[in-house]
Amino acid sequence: MRPEPAAAPQAPDVRLRFPVDREFPVPESEYPLLFQPTESGRLESALYGSTRTRRASKNRLVPSFHEGIDIRASERDSKGRPRDPVLAAADGAVAYLNRHSGNSSYGIYAVLRHSDRAGEFFTLYAHLSGLAPGLAAGGRIAAGDTVGLLGNTPADIIPLARAHLHFEVGFMLNARFDQWYRKQKLVPDHGDMHGWNLIGLDPLEILLRFAAEPEFTLSEHLRELAPAFHLVFRARRQLDFFERHPAAWSGEPYGGPAIFMAVSENGLPLGGRNASPEETQRLGKARALVADVNAAVLGRNGARLVERANGGWKLAGAGERWLGILVY
Ligand SMILES: [Zn+2]
Repeated sequence: MRPEPAAAPQAPDVRLRFPVDREFPVPESEYPLLFQPTESGRLESALYGSTRTRRASKNRLVPSFHEGIDIRASERDSKGRPRDPVLAAADGAVAYLNRHSGNSSYGIYAVLRHSDRAGEFFTLYAHLSGLAPGLAAGGRIAAGDTVGLLGNTPADIIPLARAHLHFEVGFMLNARFDQWYRKQKLVPDHGDMHGWNLIGLDPLEILLRFAAEPEFTLSEHLRELAPAFHLVFRARRQLDFFERHPAAWSGEPYGGPAIFMAVSENGLPLGGRNASPEETQRLGKARALVADVNAAVLGRNGARLVERANGGWKLAGAGERWLGILVY
């Protein structure tokens, strides 16, 4: 008698906690005590999805979509330096540490990798004044463990008075991103943990759901996200994204030459399958075809990826780059 094959180990449903030791959730009237707006003072600027001008260096402002939430300091020492420890939002492993404030607009930051039933995802902790001693790439970390100290790095961009934790929850488009990036002849920059390769979801919405609903899961959240557009595109092989997130793929294994994919407003692949012969025929010799757009959920970031053309829609420049990363 042959033994039954062991069931494939399934990753658990990960729960996320607030990444500092503060009361959460709090009533919206107390958000000004919890979140740190930009110079504008508008609370909205501390939250996910706000469009702002980001100070890329002392004299250079660039428009940018805020992919995280900014949590303010609650405790300071006699010199005004924040004392709030920044805490891991869930069990995971250290994916990346940037120890040098000067080489990123995120300053000193850490990225943790988490293994969930929905596939792997990442949490990012930026503008730290320092990392916890002993933290090393590849090491394990438990929910609530100290990642570092809340800060204002890089200090030429963030004044001490506006010290905050920038916190993101995101998914990686392609684990081969580093190779793609080098091929573009760009200077190596933070490996796979580059902003172009991490697609952020709204952390506050997710944290509020986890705090309120004992049964809430990330898988459920992804199922509930409405597609902003559908895309048919050529791929030489199965996307790395669907290999890491097999639950998002449906039907037969990838057979080429094209994929039909549902995409969220921020560029997260929500579901994919082999393109039908009719869809592949519609694609013709083109690399990609925007099959349809749901303008109501397109949002500002989604509108970066697609644009109107000849009465229909096509990928915009940022969308071409995004697809290039996905199919690499
Ligand atoms: Zn931020």
